[in-house]
Amino acid sequence: MCTGAITEEGQLLRLYPIPLRYLEENQRYKLWSWACFDVQKNPEDKRKESFRVRDGSIRVLSDVESRDERFSLLRKGIVKDRETLEVHYHQDWTSLGIIEIELIDFSAQMQPRNWEEDKPYIKQFHLYIERKPLEQLPIQMRLKFRCKNNPKCKTHVSNLIGWEYMEAFRNFRGKYHTGANAFDKIKEALVSKFSDRRRNAYALTGTHRKYGSWMVAQVYFFEKNLPKLLF
Ligand SMILES: [Zn+2]
Repeated sequence: MCTGAITEEGQLLRLYPIPLRYLEENQRYKLWSWACFDVQKNPEDKRKESFRVRDGSIRVLSDVESRDERFSLLRKGIVKDRETLEVHYHQDWTSLGIIEIELIDFSAQMQPRNWEEDKPYIKQFHLYIERKPLEQLPIQMRLKFRCKNNPKCKTHVSNLIGWEYMEAFRNFRGKYHTGANAFDKIKEALVSKFSDRRRNAYALTGTHRKYGSWMVAQVYFFEKNLPKLLF
């Protein structure tokens, strides 16, 4: 399991592998948990932010509840645009960043098989997710977006890989019967968030270890009246 994190100083980290039991126990961390980890640079991964977590060293401290506090944490990891990130990637293997984006389109490719009815496969889903998350997704969601802070941005297309979107897909598919319906529900919710003029949208984006392509792990929506950013 791969997890994105940000330090108190605003340094973005990619933590993996995270022992599976932290996803199963009651004290598991979730989105917006403050936690202590012992980390070590992963020598097999050149990407600047990739660290290994020492087994047994995870201590969950608290949850970050308020929007202001969440934004004040995240803003330290915000960069101007994807184009800047690409330059930094070639300079020093920077491979994670948060950028302000505008949605152009949201689409999906469904896996052809009706995987939810394949019970033995489903039971193993959580075992697979630790090692090969990308190969086990029932659906590939794609965000087409442009960088809000770069008028010259020519738009980007990135896979959206956050596991909660997959969870939502699985839940909606049970509720609305087909993968296409499930995706439509997710799209409806996401498009409506992007259309909310009171909020700005930020994407946590990072590169694929093997292919170097940029993926979006998470999209955050924050009120515009929070303190402005200067680049
Ligand atoms: Zn761009």
